[in-house]
Amino acid sequence: MLLASAAERLPTPDGVALAIMEAWENDRTTVQELARLVQTDPALSGRVLKLANSAAAGARRAVASVPEAIVRVGMQTVGQLAVAFSLISTESANDCPGFDRQQYWARCLLMAVLARSLGEATRLAPPEDLFACGLLARIGILGLASVYPEAYSKVLSAETDDLPALEKQTFGTDHNELSEAMMLDFYVPRALSEPARHHEAPEASGFDRGSRPQTLAVLLHLAYRLSEAAIHDGGKISEETAVIDAICGRLGLPEGRMSGIFDQALVEWRDWSKLLKLPAAKARGYAELDFSAPDSSVDEVSADTEVCSAGNGALAAAVVADAAITRRLAASLAKTNIRFEACSKISEAIQLAINHQANVFFVCEDHTQLIDMVRSADVGDASYVFVVLEAPDPAREAQAYAAGAEDVITADIAPEHLRPRLQPAIRRLKRHERWRGDRRELRRIAKELALSHRQQQILAMTDPLTDLPNRRAGMEALDQAWAGSARAGTPCALLALDIDHFKAINDRFGHAVGDQVLRAVAEVLKDAVRREETIARIGGEEFLLISPNLSLRDAVVAAERLRRQLEAAKIAAVGDSVALTVSIGIAVREAQMQLPEELINAADKALYAAKNGGRNRIAMTVKGNIRVFGAETQ
Ligand code: GH3
Ligand code: MG
Ligand code: MG
Repeated sequence: MLLASAAERLPTPDGVALAIMEAWENDRTTVQELARLVQTDPALSGRVLKLANSAAAGARRAVASVPEAIVRVGMQTVGQLAVAFSLISTESANDCPGFDRQQYWARCLLMAVLARSLGEATRLAPPEDLFACGLLARIGILGLASVYPEAYSKVLSAETDDLPALEKQTFGTDHNELSEAMMLDFYVPRALSEPARHHEAPEASGFDRGSRPQTLAVLLHLAYRLSEAAIHDGGKISEETAVIDAICGRLGLPEGRMSGIFDQALVEWRDWSKLLKLPAAKARGYAELDFSAPDSSVDEVSADTEVCSAGNGALAAAVVADAAITRRLAASLAKTNIRFEACSKISEAIQLAINHQANVFFVCEDHTQLIDMVRSADVGDASYVFVVLEAPDPAREAQAYAAGAEDVITADIAPEHLRPRLQPAIRRLKRHERWRGDRRELRRIAKELALSHRQQQILAMTDPLTDLPNRRAGMEALDQAWAGSARAGTPCALLALDIDHFKAINDRFGHAVGDQVLRAVAEVLKDAVRREETIARIGGEEFLLISPNLSLRDAVVAAERLRRQLEAAKIAAVGDSVALTVSIGIAVREAQMQLPEELINAADKALYAAKNGGRNRIAMTVKGNIRVFGAETQ
């Protein structure tokens, strides 16, 4: 059965499993933290929900959110699931050419983040539920790609406008049906899986307008559309502004609110992607996305030109037809005030369209292959194509529409008949221009946000005096080193360094010189650390050196080297040079230690002992015993 085989072969991104393993390793991980990780993986989310709910097959209420599921399933089980999934996916990695897995994940994640933000803004459903729902809403695509890698690759390369129809024809089901079936299989409540199934086309769902399932489908549709526009840059999105405006209205979002929600979701999405080391998201951040449409004749239409009422002045037409048809049509075109150029050969048409910056095409029925060329051009989205027949003919009209024409007219159409039929072309142009404006604005905001977010992040983690990582960053680095060392069974050393009698330096030379000394010490320390080590300023004149892969012996050697180096350093201060010494406490992770804090405590105890032992010396804590290196190191 398709569903069963799909469920078996669903892959999981290694980044998520990895992050979960790390979190799991850390005893202090909370349900919320674990839930954040689990929720980034549709397959894993589904499994966790399924597990939570299958245990609840009896009278218990079905859980729909991952945090609830984690509480019910137990954090440990979730960790195991993640690991098992990662193994399954690496062993049965089915490659489906043409299916961009990274982009798929990036897109799912963005859709989920957007759905959650919309949930928060509209209160139509619990945000966490919508997050999971957003992630799972397109799981059928992954299912098909995993179960039928080769056949699905062909389907995807067909570049059809109606993917579900082609899927149905090929596999007997489409990705939306499959998504719903899989969601149900994961015990996602029908109240969510049904709307999810219709997220691509809520209008065709058959739900009553204004009903809850329909509204949820519309919400998911909005998340889907926006994630598509953001990730698949340059897709057929010129039509969407008006649609999106209308949808926001239907969800009860005040005008202008969407851009804020979108930007916030975008920032969140970047964080999540980074956290999960999703390569696609890393490679194509929002700030790097090109939201600008390619140069086109539309550039000349300023946003405030009221093209609709101004009439046809904004339109530039290319007529591609034989001389007789052109002559007949020209009379009407001239009267409707359209600028136009004509040629009779298709080989000349594109050049003419470029030179003339055409946005409306009048093409005779012999040249309908031009329509495809226009559509595939950069400006194709804004262009509008009329096929011109010599005389009315329903069969030929049908052929023209099938070839992709927007409208079909006869060569001697009267100006008063042509005029109203140009209105859709003008509207399209205007919409295109508006969308371009929106995208430009979005790109600007996204860039600014990404930039300020990055700056804030850096500021929040950096000590302004020395530019070293601050206490918070130091603790994070320690957490990471600790988890890595615990997992791999490698050493992890910690050096706590404190300047001796620093208060006296301040008192003697003044606070400004004290600052200068701190900066100089920081420079010495920066030069001394290796690439994988972190040196942080965790307090006034206290520093922490975190060194993964450093054994106790090597840590002692390194600490002693640092001590000597700083003792020898002559720090130039106003007309003087300041001498200083430091004391250093050393500890390494030991098997019985449960938490990074224990390592810090051990190093602190050693530091304290070094101070008590006379300062300017190093000491270490090993299995609770402290050894101060005395005269032999002086
Ligand atoms: P000990 O050898 O026991 O470590 O003695 P100490 O004087 O170094 O330690 P204590 O903790 O008594 O004093 C630390 C001093 O560091 C007190 C404080 O004014 C100073 N200090 C803390 N932060 C800064 C800073 O950013 N700039 C300057 N100039 N001084 C600072
Ligand atoms: Mg001190
Ligand atoms: Mg101190």
